[in-house]
Amino acid sequence: MAAVAPSVTVAPAAAASASPDPSSSRPVYRFWSQGYENAHFYTLDHSEAQSLHSNDGNWTYEGTDFRVWPLASGACPAGTSPVHRFWSSAYTSHFYTMNAAEADEVRRTDRNWTYEGVRFCAASQQTEGTVAVHRFWSPGFEKHFYTANADEAQKLRTSDRNWTYEGVAMYAPTSGAASPPITGQPAPRVGCQSPDMPAALAAHDAGRITQLFGGAGALRDAIADGRAACVPLDDPALPWVVVNKQRPVSPLDYVPASLTVPSGSLVDGGIRSDAVGSFEQLQRDVAASGAGRIALTSGYRSYGTQAGIHRYQVETLGQEQGERLAARPGYSEHQLGLAADVVSCGGGCGSLYSFAGTAQERWVRENSWRYGWIVRYESGQTGTTGYNAEPWHLRYIGPDLARVYHDGGYHSLEAFFGLPAAPEYR
Ligand SMILES: [Zn+2]
Repeated sequence: MAAVAPSVTVAPAAAASASPDPSSSRPVYRFWSQGYENAHFYTLDHSEAQSLHSNDGNWTYEGTDFRVWPLASGACPAGTSPVHRFWSSAYTSHFYTMNAAEADEVRRTDRNWTYEGVRFCAASQQTEGTVAVHRFWSPGFEKHFYTANADEAQKLRTSDRNWTYEGVAMYAPTSGAASPPITGQPAPRVGCQSPDMPAALAAHDAGRITQLFGGAGALRDAIADGRAACVPLDDPALPWVVVNKQRPVSPLDYVPASLTVPSGSLVDGGIRSDAVGSFEQLQRDVAASGAGRIALTSGYRSYGTQAGIHRYQVETLGQEQGERLAARPGYSEHQLGLAADVVSCGGGCGSLYSFAGTAQERWVRENSWRYGWIVRYESGQTGTTGYNAEPWHLRYIGPDLARVYHDGGYHSLEAFFGLPAAPEYR
């Protein structure tokens, strides 16, 4: 999402010879999506619009908007020019331009955008009976927005710093034919588009949020596909919070609301109370399996504690090696209360570094997901996670997501959610 979006000055296409006939123009259907981070979508294609309305709960039909001309036998009517449509899965938005040079440039040089062809036509110059359709780009939302409403355009230009004005995209007639109506019940609202989502988010209700997406697998897909813009990945109250070298704990001095020390622990830091039951069940089951006992040797660590550990490792091993072992303060999953470092116990308990290769380690690696825990730092993943393999470091993401993680064969939370690798601090 860091690439540069097209933001060239919009110049109209070459002047057309004939004046366009408004009577064959029709208004576009306009859709809006919260999940796609306030994306708008405009189409003249009735079957496309009807299908979106009836089948895709990520989009809300908002009615018709500015007028354009349909292609007639594959060509734009006299006096009008083609409007080129692009889709970007990186920006999860569409882009429309009737500037042929810009369309060509984007097709040749900008891999963020996929060309979808000419879907309708518009006038490239103002004539009587046409209005300007203004084009905006938001670097924050990574979205284009188009409006023929002069007041709205003026308001965005003067008072909304989210949007950069890019010029007149096209000219639209003010009169003409009607578009066939969109009919029937809309598809059930899913995910971010669900009317119940604001309350679920406000309550930090992970179960309800997951349910509104249609389950943990659907939630994972929506996050990875960019359809879940409303779902924070940095809310430490939610079990899917991602903390890595690019994503600090937020706020930096976060302290979990409630911590519980699991039975048989070697420390008093504890883990978050809503995860402790599953951890103790895991402990009982690994012992019952005959693999032997495990014990928690490090759970919750405060910002201050982490600062001491980080300082010690860096002083002992140097910056680079030390930071492959110990997170900087504010960047450790342990501060979430959702991480558990475990050791194998027999007569006594071993150290972290003797955990690998034990029967307990193997059992945990194969089964922890059943309890909602994943092995967060696997070998071979240092380029993604920024950490050497830590077979002892378990991370709670909840049983539903952990099952999806396991079944999908993932090896890092970053890959699981389609996030950039985080090998280094910013
Ligand atoms: Zn750890």
